[in-house]
Amino acid sequence: MEIISIPKIMQETSKEYLVDGKTIGLVPTMGALHEGHLSLVGRAKQENDITVVSIFVNPIQFGASEDLERYPRDIEGDTEKLRREKVDIIFMPEISSMYPEVFLTYVEVEKISERLCGAFRPGHFRGVATVVTKLLNIVKPTRAYFGQKDFQQSIIIKQLVKDLNMDVDVVVCPTVREQDGLAMSSRNAYLDRAQREAATVIYRCLKEASDLIKSGVIDRTYIKGLMQDRLLKEPAVSSVDYAGVYDPETMNELSEIKGDVLLTVALRIGDTRLIDNMLVTSSDYQIQQPNFKSLKERAI
Ligand code: AMP
Repeated sequence: MEIISIPKIMQETSKEYLVDGKTIGLVPTMGALHEGHLSLVGRAKQENDITVVSIFVNPIQFGASEDLERYPRDIEGDTEKLRREKVDIIFMPEISSMYPEVFLTYVEVEKISERLCGAFRPGHFRGVATVVTKLLNIVKPTRAYFGQKDFQQSIIIKQLVKDLNMDVDVVVCPTVREQDGLAMSSRNAYLDRAQREAATVIYRCLKEASDLIKSGVIDRTYIKGLMQDRLLKEPAVSSVDYAGVYDPETMNELSEIKGDVLLTVALRIGDTRLIDNMLVTSSDYQIQQPNFKSLKERAI
C-alpha cells in the first residue's frame, strides 16, 4: 500500500494507471474510518483495478463555530484498517497543498445546496463541492464512491459531475448501521453512553415513519408531526434542525406523499450534530393503495 501526500504525485501515479488501461475507484473520506467507510472501500475494490482512499479533513466545509478542531483523527488506525482491506493507495494531502495561500476558485451547486443541511450550515456544500472537484481532478477515478448516509451530499455531487461534464461514475452505497440501527458516523465518537443510547431515536423515528408510509399512511402533515414529536420527546435531543418528508431530487419539502420520498433528519444531541435518512420508493407503498380497476372489477 502506497501513501501519497503530494497532489502532483497522486495525479502522475493515476495517469500511469490509466495509460495502462486500469480502472481507478476513489473513496473520499475525512478519516476516523468505520464499517460505513469500509463498505465503500469493499465496493470500490470489487469494481476497480486500483482503489484509492483519500483522507482529508477539509477545513473549508466547516463553519467558524463547527467542530473542525475536535473532529476525530486516527491516522494510524485508519492506515492499519486500509492495509487490511488491501487498498492500493491512501491519498492524504496537507491542507497547504490543497489550499495554498492564493486559492481563488470555489464550486457552488445552486438550489439543492441551499436546502436541508445547506440552510443550517452556510458554505458547507460549497466546501464539499470544491474539495470533491479537486479530488476528482487529482485522482482521476473511473468511479467515485459515496454513502447514502449523506444523501444530500451525494445528490449535489451527482449534479456537479453532470453539470461540469466530469468523466466519472458516481456510485452511492447503502448506509451501514450499528445493530440498534444508529447510522455509523465518525461523529458518534463524541457521544457519551447515555447520548449514544438516546441517538437510536433517529433510526426508530425514520423506521416508524417509513413503515407507516409503506402501510398506506400517506398524510404528509401527520408523518412530519409524528417524526418531530418522536424526536423532541427524547430529552437528550437538544434541537432538531429538520425532520420530515422531502423530494429526493430537488431536496424541497413535499406537500404530499407521492412517488419516491426521502425521510430525513438532522438534530443535535448535546453539541453533536447527527444526520440520517431513509428513502421510501413509490413501489414500496403504492401497492398498498386501493387499485381503482380491481375495485371496479370486484363490484361487477
Ligand atoms: P466522511 O468521512 O464522514 O466524510 O464520509 C466519507 C464517505 O463515507 C461519505 O461518502 C459518507 O457518506 C460515507 N459514509 C459515512 N458514514 C457512512 C455509513 N454509515 N454508511 C455508508 N457510508 C457512509
